[in-house]
Amino acid sequence: MGNNEDLFPGCMAIPDCYYYYDHCRSVYIIKKWEIRISKLNKKNREILQETMSNKSKAIHSLGKGTKLYSILKLKCPRCQEGNLFLTRNPYNLKMFDKMPNRCEVCGEDFVRESGFFWGAMMVSHALTTVIAIVVHLIVFHFYGWDLTPNIISIVTIILLLFPIVFRTSRAIWINIFVNYDPAFSKKKKQ
Ligand SMILES: [Zn+2]
Repeated sequence: MGNNEDLFPGCMAIPDCYYYYDHCRSVYIIKKWEIRISKLNKKNREILQETMSNKSKAIHSLGKGTKLYSILKLKCPRCQEGNLFLTRNPYNLKMFDKMPNRCEVCGEDFVRESGFFWGAMMVSHALTTVIAIVVHLIVFHFYGWDLTPNIISIVTIILLLFPIVFRTSRAIWINIFVNYDPAFSKKKKQ
């Protein structure tokens, strides 16, 4: 027991007490791990904070202002702050296609002219074709030209992705006609 004096000197106050020896040893080990974990947590927190700030920097410097940002985040093409759609959830089947008439931030007219978004159907066809080809290539790898798995998987995936493709197509289409203007995105903060 004497050898352990340096580990937990407090225990030595009670001579030949094995209960306290074990007890103190456990307390000591728990304390040691608590310190280790708190150090680790601090380090992890620092790493996490750094990653988050890098990520937000990356989003800020690479993202905003580009057409890709507006399309992927479904934001107004002019100010890139207002939402293009009323709901964020593409699988809210009653609402996924509903758009406000105007941007809530900069007032950009989303309707533009009647039938404006008919053009988005061309984009939608193009996207759907790309998806079908990708799915076919994957299925072909496993089943070859077997028609049943090819058709079932292509149809299922196109149906599942329909709301996302629909919204992305509209975002691409309106971005063809409207450019980002930072003057409008500042409006909100004034
Ligand atoms: Zn806007």
